[in-house]
Amino acid sequence: MKQMFNVSNAHRVKSSISNLPVRLLLGPGPSNLHPRVNQQLSTHMIGYTDQNYYKVMDETMEMMRYLFQTNNHFTIPITGAGTAAMEACVANLIEPGDNVVCCVSGYFSDRIYQMAQRYGANILKVDRKWGTWFSLDDVRDALVKHKPSLLTMVFGETSTGVKQAMAGIGQLCKEHNCLLMVDTVAALGGVPFFVDDWKVDACYTGGQKCLSGPPGISPITFSPLACAKIANRKTPVANWYLDAMLLGGYWCPEYNFANGTVTTPQPLRRYHHTTPANLVYALRESILMICEEGIENTWNRHQDAAKSLYKGLESIGLKPYLADTNEVFDQGGRLFSLTTVAVPDGLDAKLVMKYLLDKYNIEIAGGLGELAGKVWRVGLMGFNANQTNVKLLISALEEAVKASK
Ligand SMILES: *Cc1c(COP(=O)(O)O)cnc(C)c1O
Repeated sequence: MKQMFNVSNAHRVKSSISNLPVRLLLGPGPSNLHPRVNQQLSTHMIGYTDQNYYKVMDETMEMMRYLFQTNNHFTIPITGAGTAAMEACVANLIEPGDNVVCCVSGYFSDRIYQMAQRYGANILKVDRKWGTWFSLDDVRDALVKHKPSLLTMVFGETSTGVKQAMAGIGQLCKEHNCLLMVDTVAALGGVPFFVDDWKVDACYTGGQKCLSGPPGISPITFSPLACAKIANRKTPVANWYLDAMLLGGYWCPEYNFANGTVTTPQPLRRYHHTTPANLVYALRESILMICEEGIENTWNRHQDAAKSLYKGLESIGLKPYLADTNEVFDQGGRLFSLTTVAVPDGLDAKLVMKYLLDKYNIEIAGGLGELAGKVWRVGLMGFNANQTNVKLLISALEEAVKASK
């Protein structure tokens, strides 16, 4: 044997996981899992061709349609992080040479832009200052100028705490024969979003943000128009793992991408990759809990928590980085699930974060890119979006700020 791992090493590594601190995760994700979700992670394994598992899959897809507020048949979980779902959209909806508009005003919208470049798109990048969103005129100008087949944007930009205004954007894209792709990773389940009413063609989220599910599994949905575009591609999707029609062969073989029809009885499911059953169970449980609460109530709970946070910040001499929120659900403004908090001049943002973590086991995040050192990012997502956590955070934050001056 060349490579040894002796008993003393085993003792050394043994406690690293069992001694992990229990943190309250109030950053941009992951958020804490509800105990019901946690429990699903230790449910026993089952084969991927088992009829009982197929039932779990079908129910998961059914509840995901409610979550996305869509009738789209192709609504499945991607095995991978939110970024994998992002890549699934980009890889399937872009053919080399396609004209694409990328609306960029933050870290994650820029990530979509970077991906689109790798799939050979001819891109018009529309840049806006971080902390702002795109107007209908911005979108119209880009559509007229570039004649894209795809326009990409982020609904809840986690790097800035901005909610993108959605009113009219889908309709404009339809009028210009352009598919609309929207990232809702930090928002779906926490903030009202309507895939069908807003005419969104490709949309995705992640398990670990407003769903309080596990990371590594990411709901995605494609409209019939998006599916037809995929079926009519001249070139194969350059990413085999994320090829929507291959994935559809396992998740929904009854669905015809070219014409949107559904075959009964369901044809045989074709193996694509081994789906992580426990992540599917856990994701399903997290969405089931939203179904039980009623999604409007879930949205309201997030809004109430955010408003209490704004008030609490004010009471300790802090304030959100963005101007007062516009509460109209399809207009732009503050994102209720993720608040950027302005760091007062002269204060070391990292010191405050360390104090919260060391003394109270509370995790919040600092700013990214242009906003590094200027903001903290506070997430009140899913299971964590409640008044108890707001009270706790505000009193701990008050103490941390005083101690860091
Ligand atoms: C977190 C996040 C992502 C990426 O999700 P991962 O699961 O970390 O890959 C993408 N977009 C937005 C808006 C996010 O907040």
